[in-house]
Amino acid sequence: MKLVILTKDVKSETVERLSAEMTKTGGEVYAVNLEGAYLKDNKIFNIDDKKGFEISPQDTVVAVRGSITLKDSYLDLLSQIEKRKIMTVNNRLCNEICADKFRTSIILDEAGIAQPKTALIAIGDNIKTNYPEQAFNKLDTKFPVILKTLRGAKGIGVLLIESMQALESTTQLLYKLDESSDLLLQEYIKSDFDIRVHVLNGEIIGVMQRNVPDDDFRSNYAQGATTEKYKLSKKEEEVALAAANAVSGYWVGVDFIPNKGNPLVLEVNSSAGTEGIEQTIGSSINRKVIKTITNSDNWIKAKTAIGVREIFEFDLFGKMKAKLDTGNSVKTLVMHADDLVVKNDKVTFTSHGREYTMKLYGIKKIRLNGDNGLEERPMVMLDFTFNGVIHKNVTFTLDDRSTKTTEVLVNKDWMIDNSFIIDPSLMYTLGEL
Ligand code: ADP
Repeated sequence: MKLVILTKDVKSETVERLSAEMTKTGGEVYAVNLEGAYLKDNKIFNIDDKKGFEISPQDTVVAVRGSITLKDSYLDLLSQIEKRKIMTVNNRLCNEICADKFRTSIILDEAGIAQPKTALIAIGDNIKTNYPEQAFNKLDTKFPVILKTLRGAKGIGVLLIESMQALESTTQLLYKLDESSDLLLQEYIKSDFDIRVHVLNGEIIGVMQRNVPDDDFRSNYAQGATTEKYKLSKKEEEVALAAANAVSGYWVGVDFIPNKGNPLVLEVNSSAGTEGIEQTIGSSINRKVIKTITNSDNWIKAKTAIGVREIFEFDLFGKMKAKLDTGNSVKTLVMHADDLVVKNDKVTFTSHGREYTMKLYGIKKIRLNGDNGLEERPMVMLDFTFNGVIHKNVTFTLDDRSTKTTEVLVNKDWMIDNSFIIDPSLMYTLGEL
């Protein structure tokens, strides 16, 4: 099994911990510095690596560590990987939701998950706007309140605001520093600690209490908070799992304040640190993560909607019309071929007027409709490109389908294995012949 780590900092603690656990299993690791990294055919390349690293949906899992949302180009690389049906932890959707505190709050709210009351502050360059005050009034609370920049992490960008004057002047300053920054105002929930829960594939794999230091209101490990073990109540377990699920998280850190039995979720981290929690709980989060994500039974892959008819492009024969038939439970794909002759371990046929001789991969016996007995069809291995992805060594049975309008028939299992869903309203989503 192979692990590709996408990161901004290949030397970071979090990358090293995950790599070390993967190496212990005998698997291969390729750490990708997102800046300048690219995909070509079935390989991923660091900018200065000419050799690259082969990736495939069968034997590769991709983990994101650190912030991948800094640049759209980083996220686009992740999308290209998802499109190749390679398992990603976490996927683009999750990374994008978690990077944006307002988007997270909307999605958690839609999932019925309780949070501190939150309002977005509209910002205008006119100093006299009362937008901060409007946001404050929406919260229906008293000072102090919490002001957050949407894209902060490790507690940086989270402020405790004691008065309307401070709120107005701080929002003005933040607007002056960055006109495009969005700000959230949040009810302050006084608490001596908050809880960090690591959720992996719908299971809780680590919990710690993070104590708010005397001289701060934040409990981030990166801000020097002390930590200790914590036992979740049933309700808290449910909330953590629901929050992870709401943001499409495969491996995430959910932060909440217990709030006397009514947990309030603060945020979900798509790349939660592991150093602090491993020390606190005394066991390896990274080991559990590697064990889970390298087992393909645990994979969830992005599904792509395609039409009932699409174009497959073969290396040998060029483009062909394919019919995607969800009712077809034959175990291979079928391709139309004329003048089929099987001899020893070879099969000869014509396609688009040209003759080909290929290695015979086997003979498939197909039971025909009615009681016409079994038909024997030769099998070959073919390479083709579909949806921008090369599919190598795919088994096809050859059949004379000259009475049909499509030359390729795609079976149900192939669609399932490659995570395609068929939308009956679509046809030739990637262009016609
Ligand atoms: P970050 O992504 O920077 O960790 P958080 O939203 O988790 O940002 O806030 C950092 C810390 O500030 C939290 O761990 C918590 O201790 C504290 N905090 C954040 N929001 C609130 C709030 N509404 N009430 C009380 N404390 C808060």
